[in-house]
Amino acid sequence: MDFIKAATQPDHPPETAWFFIFSDHQILVLQEKDNSPVIPCISYRTAMEKGLNHVCYIGTYKKIACYCAQAPKPPVTESMGPDFHPVNFRSLFGKMDFDIFWIAGYARQIHDWNMNFTFCGKCGTKTLKSPKEHVKTCPGCGLMSYPRISPAIIVAVIKEDRILLARGVNFPNKKMFSVLAGFVEAGETLEDCVKREVFEETGIQVKQITYFGSQPWPFPDSLMIGFTAVYDSGSIHIDPDEIAEADWFTRDQLPLVPQKPSLSGQLIDWFIESQGQ
Ligand SMILES: [Zn+2]
Repeated sequence: MDFIKAATQPDHPPETAWFFIFSDHQILVLQEKDNSPVIPCISYRTAMEKGLNHVCYIGTYKKIACYCAQAPKPPVTESMGPDFHPVNFRSLFGKMDFDIFWIAGYARQIHDWNMNFTFCGKCGTKTLKSPKEHVKTCPGCGLMSYPRISPAIIVAVIKEDRILLARGVNFPNKKMFSVLAGFVEAGETLEDCVKREVFEETGIQVKQITYFGSQPWPFPDSLMIGFTAVYDSGSIHIDPDEIAEADWFTRDQLPLVPQKPSLSGQLIDWFIESQGQ
């Protein structure tokens, strides 16, 4: 990864820069001849002339400056030009170079912070952005606001030669199953969260909770923390508010599941490989 995070603006405006330009849930991309989306790496001066808002320096990628910014008011094609296409940010997952997508995710989180903490959440005073790091301070009451990260667990529960997979009620693809996941609550350890989420969503008790890996998940600000766990007791009783269906699957009978490089895809791959031993 050739991305170096930074918050201090370069001394001089760069000639060209990567621009991660957002508009609600969309990001602006250019399209190559084969229609694959690319993040614009364009003249800094030209970009500034298009009326971008909330421009924020986030570092360098392959020694080229990177900025996140808010798109001008819609219609975007009118202000930015017909080469720029707004696309759903999440839809780019797996469709572009993973390093660039990862930087876009970071840009998205810094951008959300930059947009959402313009005023102090405690006293309403306009905040001041530090020139040295991504923090905003309230001159009225001193409250400091950093980019928000919401930790969430994701867990592969194994029962002998089967894995517990569920289809969430909100999954856009009605055939897609995945491992269980949920947000960490205040005052909770990650292990407690794994136990609670699996039990609340499926009625299953788990043991032998083991750390697997982690992944930033910028939709909008999660950090996924992956675990494996072993079935302890109980039978499947789904929480219908969260889960449409859940079941145990062997390696040879898997439904449609997420692919790498998502952490859910990595956990399911780990299960498949572990069954081959
Ligand atoms: Zn304040």
